[in-house]
Amino acid sequence: MDLRSESPFWLMRSGIIRPYPSIRQSYSTDIAIIGGGISGALVAYYLSKEGIPAILLDKRQIGLGSTCASTSLLQYEIDTPLGKLSKQIGTKKANQSYLLCIDAIDKINKITDSLKSDAGFSLKKSFYYASNKKDVDEIKTEFQLRKNIGINLELLSGNDIERLFPFSAPAGLLSAVGGQIDAYFFTHELLKSSIDSGLKVFDNTDVVKINHHKRGIELETSFGEVIKAGKLIIACGYESQGYLSKKIVDLNSSFAIVSEPSTTKNIWYQNSLIWETARPYLYMRTTDDNRVLVGGKDEPFYNPEKRDRLIAKKAYQLKKAFGKKFPDFDFRIDFAWAGTFAETKDGLPYIGKVREHPNTYFALGFGGNGIVFSQLAAEIIRDILIGKKHIGEGIFKFDR
Ligand SMILES: Cc1cc2nc3c(=O)[nH]c(=O)nc-3n(C[C@H](O)[C@H](O)[C@H](O)COP(=O)(O)OP(=O)(O)OC[C@H]3O[C@@H](n4cnc5c(N)ncnc54)[C@H](O)[C@@H]3O)c2cc1C
Repeated sequence: MDLRSESPFWLMRSGIIRPYPSIRQSYSTDIAIIGGGISGALVAYYLSKEGIPAILLDKRQIGLGSTCASTSLLQYEIDTPLGKLSKQIGTKKANQSYLLCIDAIDKINKITDSLKSDAGFSLKKSFYYASNKKDVDEIKTEFQLRKNIGINLELLSGNDIERLFPFSAPAGLLSAVGGQIDAYFFTHELLKSSIDSGLKVFDNTDVVKINHHKRGIELETSFGEVIKAGKLIIACGYESQGYLSKKIVDLNSSFAIVSEPSTTKNIWYQNSLIWETARPYLYMRTTDDNRVLVGGKDEPFYNPEKRDRLIAKKAYQLKKAFGKKFPDFDFRIDFAWAGTFAETKDGLPYIGKVREHPNTYFALGFGGNGIVFSQLAAEIIRDILIGKKHIGEGIFKFDR
């Protein structure tokens, strides 16, 4: 699959962070992980903390799938609002999903602390505004539902919004919990730490065949090496659909631009994450080197050539949409890129096993919360492997 255009900001900024070898011999280990993006790296990190021997393989270079194209907002707010999600999966599970995402952001915060490399991470408030008057009721309902389960947030009126931001909206929610990161850099930092604890990582290593056995799995690479393992974790991002008989995602194309660094420290109110009720939504964040990142203008197709041909047009539209909200900011586009983006029917990830593949677990974080879901996937899979119950296992399972 062609997952992204050539020059996403994070990849251009950091380049190839660390080299990893391709595989040169056959291996036998406890756990094999296919996929060296943020999902595979987090799973590997959690397993290495448990001292579980594992090997991680990626057919590209590490992080060069969707991860380096990610705009990397960390939100507890799932693409499906809590009220709507409650109707889809039940109130209890919907509430738990939101609360698990809050916890996941906290865990990412703690991991970046322990890695002694912030990987561009910082905690941010999250501002979700009503794109038009008809969405005010949704905002009010969301406020109540979230407040009822103890989420720390404020309901903002039109006047409040005009006081805090240079644009108007009829209502909004300002949540205390949110974060942002450089997922590409974070992936490499996670792997560095895991390698120090015994993980083996090979990139440019394509897994071309998987044999699922009752007692374990066997992988074959395009070089002819064979990896025998007790269990397999598939963390192949949007390409994981190829291992499933049931269609679980819709593929879209998404676009993003990044400005030149600004000399203003607080570009807007607390440099919060900003997004809206409209679908597809426009969203904004700042970066650790004080740039503005704007994303959205999604198109409902998977066609990489068509997607990349649209970059200049979409960059112009994103800049214009941003300019309407922040007319005083001189937005000079430094980077513009496009990526394929997958959504599920309820906005939730798929984590765990499928009946057709014994000894295999999937770590599939999809949608606008992909990274937060990768964190949850890593915890859940770790818990399954060490025989511990995780509340998310039943919520994000395949046959839900
Ligand atoms: C433009 C854009 C904006 C986004 N914004 C956000 C956001 O703001 N917040 C958020 O949380 N998420 C966001 N996402 C989603 C997020 O980026 C993804 O959920 C996340 O990067 C997926 O990571 P992954 O590790 O699962 O997949 P990937 O990064 O794609 O990694 C999977 C890896 O598996 C490897 N692989 C596949 N098949 C094989 C094989 N057979 N053998 C060996 N290796 C294989 C691939 O080479 C790849 O490197 C965004 C995505 C895009 C594209």
